[in-house]
Amino acid sequence: MVDALVSGASAERRVGSSPILGTKEFILNSFFYSIFLLISKIIFNFVRINPKNKLAAIYFHIPFCKRLCGYCDFYRSVKLKYMSQVVETMHAELAEQADFLHDKSIRTIYFGGGTPSLLAPSEIEQFISQVRTLFDCSQLEEVTIEVNPDDISEEYVAELRKTSVNRISMGVQSLDDRCLQFMGRRHSAEQAIKAVRMLQGAGYDNISVDVIFGVPGFGSEVLDDTLQRMLAMNVQHISAYHLTIEENTRFGRMMAKGEFCEVDEVCSESQFLQVHNALQSAGFEHYEVSNYALKGCRSKHNSSYWQGVEYLGIGPGAHSFNGVVRRWCEQSVEEYIGGVEYGSEELSTMDKLNEYVMTSLRCVEGLSLAKVEREFGLQERKRLEREASTDRVKRLLAYEGECLRIAPENMLLSDLVIEALIAL
Ligand code: SF4
Repeated sequence: MVDALVSGASAERRVGSSPILGTKEFILNSFFYSIFLLISKIIFNFVRINPKNKLAAIYFHIPFCKRLCGYCDFYRSVKLKYMSQVVETMHAELAEQADFLHDKSIRTIYFGGGTPSLLAPSEIEQFISQVRTLFDCSQLEEVTIEVNPDDISEEYVAELRKTSVNRISMGVQSLDDRCLQFMGRRHSAEQAIKAVRMLQGAGYDNISVDVIFGVPGFGSEVLDDTLQRMLAMNVQHISAYHLTIEENTRFGRMMAKGEFCEVDEVCSESQFLQVHNALQSAGFEHYEVSNYALKGCRSKHNSSYWQGVEYLGIGPGAHSFNGVVRRWCEQSVEEYIGGVEYGSEELSTMDKLNEYVMTSLRCVEGLSLAKVEREFGLQERKRLEREASTDRVKRLLAYEGECLRIAPENMLLSDLVIEALIAL
């Protein structure tokens, strides 16, 4: 409706208005213009405050991988024989769970995993079409798929281009073949570079790549080479993660046997800064602990999580949040196809505050003390200000007006600050 009014008004201007007006015409035009502004304002406020028009996100978790990487503890399975049944169950789950978002308008869709690029582009599009039939998608801006470089071929890209996917997130991790082999990745550096070129050749201009640093045995020279070659790919977004060793992974088991040692804190910090400096000098904004983007190319989907936007997660391993309830499905793929079940919790006010502290301090915009006071009370604001001034964390924090921020170069220590500031 806003569109109709605006285009109607501009059409009138095109056919009926004169650049030089008489007094009477001027008064009449001013009068109609004021009315037009008033109506636009009313509609704008209606759109803004009507919960039906609030934006939300949808996440599809495709939990399959051909092979498990040494470090990975994501929810994933190598039982590819269940893939078509899981896809079928996910369609049924989406149809059943659409109400979870209470008529929200969808702004972003994200296919994560696992390895979503194991699905054919036509299967990805079927999910998007179903979202379009169940939700208002008039404000859909971003559809991302995570891909593995070795799934990308000219044919795959040509098919993907016919879908609504407009953003690619590729698990590159390193551009050093020895490092890739060590981590148990399925692809080579060359394959990753070629895959990005194919996508760009087909017109994709919003591509993110992942890099892992802090890999034992692969020092700053290897990392520098990877970063320089990634920058030469001309991608728009880079996610950089420190390798963490989890118990139930191949690396975790190796570490338990003493065959493997994590890098020390000095190395962690210096490689974190190495990534920060290299990407920042190349014009990337460090906008979240692990995320860097060229101007205008932040991940809208991930940013919406950090901003507390509601989202519906579909598939085994997916989580959902609708402003009141947090819900998750942690079934095995066999259990999932037998009947979807959820765990859930209702967030208390304290949970919501802690969540806000955690997510906001990980982002460059920081924590708004005015928002804390408005939504959680003056007492909580004062408590946060008190905690923020303790010797342990004050060197890592800066005030900018009403905002409390961690400088991007200190973000490696964001957990220390968050721990000090959350309410117990
Ligand atoms: S890192 Fe990605 S590709 Fe490797 S096992 Fe985990 S989900 Fe699968």
